[in-house]
Amino acid sequence: MSGRRSIVIFGPPGAGKGTQASRLIRDFGFEYIATGEILRQAIAGDTELGRRAKGYVETGSLVPDEVVIPIVEERMRATRGNRSFLLDGFPRTIPQAEMLFEAAKRVGAPVEKVVYLNTPDEVVLERLTQRRQCRLCGAVYNLVTMPPKESGKCDGCGGRIYQRDDDKEETVRTRLKVFEAQTRDVMQFYRDRGLVLEIDGALPVEQSYATIAESLGEVQ
Ligand code: AMP
Repeated sequence: MSGRRSIVIFGPPGAGKGTQASRLIRDFGFEYIATGEILRQAIAGDTELGRRAKGYVETGSLVPDEVVIPIVEERMRATRGNRSFLLDGFPRTIPQAEMLFEAAKRVGAPVEKVVYLNTPDEVVLERLTQRRQCRLCGAVYNLVTMPPKESGKCDGCGGRIYQRDDDKEETVRTRLKVFEAQTRDVMQFYRDRGLVLEIDGALPVEQSYATIAESLGEVQ
C-alpha cells in the first residue's frame, strides 16, 4: 500500500475530470477537493465566499488566487487521519500550483501524479452542452452518453438534475480561452517535475479510467 499522497486531475472544462474523480473516489477513497464544486455550493448558499466568487464563476473567468488558495490550504490542514487527496479544478494558475506543492508536502501527502485529460475543443463543446449535474450531490451526467435512469432525477441521491449556467455555449468558449491563457502553463510546471500522466480525454470513460486506476497502483 502506498503512503499518503495527493493526486491532481487536470484538463480543460468538459475533459471528464469529475467523472473520473467519482470513480477514483469509489475505488481509492480519496478526500476530494473540487474548487468549482466548493464555489458553486457557496454561491447557492449565498455565503460571503459565494458573494465574492459569483461574478467570476458566472462569466467563466478565474476567481482570484487569494480567494481560492486559502480554501484549499484550509481543507488540507483540516483533513484528519491518513487520507490521500484528489484535487479537481485546482491548481489553475502557477501560484496555486506552487502553493499546492508546498502545502501537500507540509501535511505529509506530496503531489505524486497529475492526470492530464488532454481533450480537443470540439469534444469539450459537444460534451458540455449535453452535461447535466445533480443539484444536491454534484453527480455528473451526460444526456447522450450517461443519462440518469429516471429523467431529471439523480440515480444516487434522487436530487434534481440541472444544467450549470456556465455550461451554456458562450460561457464555455470563455472558459476554454481562460484555460488556454491562464491554466495550460500549469502543465509545464508539473512536466518539469516529471509528474504528468497524459490521457486522451476523447477516449470512452471506462477505457481512460482503467489506465488511470492502474497508474495509481493498488486500491487502498
Ligand atoms: P469547474 O467546476 O472546475 O469548471 O469550475 C467552475 C468555475 O469556478 C471556474 O470557471 C472558475 O470561475 C471557478 N474556479 C474553480 N476552480 C478555480 C480555481 N482553482 N481558480 C480560480 N477559479 C476557479
